[in-house]
Amino acid sequence: MRWRKVLKEMSPYTPGKSIEEVKAMYGLEDIIKLASNENPYGASDVVNEQLSPQAVDLEIYPDGYAGKLRTTIASELEINENQLLFGSGSDEIIVIIARALLGEGTNTIVATPTFPQYKHHALIEGAEVKEIPLIDGEHDLDGFLEAIDHNTSVIWLCSPNNPTGNLIKQDQLTAFLEQVPERILVVLDEAYYEYVVDEHYIDTVELIHKYKNVLILRTFSKAYGLAALRVGYAIGDQSLITPLNTTRSPFNVTSLSLALAEKAFADKAFIEKCRTLNRAQMERFYAYAEQHGLHIFDSQANFVLLQVPVSATVATEELLKQGYIVRSGDALGTPGYIRVTVGTAEQNDGFFKAFDTLL
Ligand code: PMP
Repeated sequence: MRWRKVLKEMSPYTPGKSIEEVKAMYGLEDIIKLASNENPYGASDVVNEQLSPQAVDLEIYPDGYAGKLRTTIASELEINENQLLFGSGSDEIIVIIARALLGEGTNTIVATPTFPQYKHHALIEGAEVKEIPLIDGEHDLDGFLEAIDHNTSVIWLCSPNNPTGNLIKQDQLTAFLEQVPERILVVLDEAYYEYVVDEHYIDTVELIHKYKNVLILRTFSKAYGLAALRVGYAIGDQSLITPLNTTRSPFNVTSLSLALAEKAFADKAFIEKCRTLNRAQMERFYAYAEQHGLHIFDSQANFVLLQVPVSATVATEELLKQGYIVRSGDALGTPGYIRVTVGTAEQNDGFFKAFDTLL
């Protein structure tokens, strides 16, 4: 078979160990997964009440247009319905963007470290990837500008950034957008948008009206607590949305997912509650880090990148043995650190106790 050559050098994305795997490995019953930035409070009750296959006609294909969810989100964001694209998670939208815009002879610019899927799919499509190191955990947007050339097709920004949690500041973002040629797509991945508490963070949706080359990505997988359902969406000018829509498969989001995402979107009180609880628990991580002289990144998401007193791999394994799944910085490009999802009060109590054994 004549696979794309690059696939021989790459390997499948490995999202880390599952709860079932860890149970089997260590013979443990209670596992707390703080590795994938899911919502530790689950999903809104209004979603759980609806959660039955009878909620949809299973024999009927989903609405490929995602009409109801589209109308709900468009009206809330005060945009046109044709300014939205839905995907099976924002993961799928990343694939769609790469497929539509990247290929041999093009290049794309990403921060490093950042969410690895931008690079992964760019490489599969045969594009060159230019990686611009973060400076003190923040995107080096001047570095991005310097890296632009005639073949640059897509720029990926992640705010809050995974794995650091840092936000791209408003003035820096707009100054940057002013300087990026309009022929280049700028993706602003805001998977953790609902967790942001920085009052200076702008309503980024406004940017799509002024900058026709900006595409914002959001998801139901994080604060909405619906990671299992796989629903993400992109917000941008119609001139971007139409070709991306052409690229996606016709029924890419299931009916059940669309129906439940719509319920979840309506429950603003749940999001507010999760944002507040997350912030309060995040403060405990800062206090813990300070108490033990460990560096921690300033995060506006629902995870923290925390320095560890031993190697990241050793720390991750030791925590795993005690039933806590976290992400090793050795796998994220941040050696000496682990990325931990901020859990509930009880989960964090247990996590700190387990972490104490590393000190
Ligand atoms: N973007 C970022 C920054 C993420 O952290 C994640 C999930 N880890 C995603 C996109 C993908 O999320 P999903 O496909 O579940 O919407």
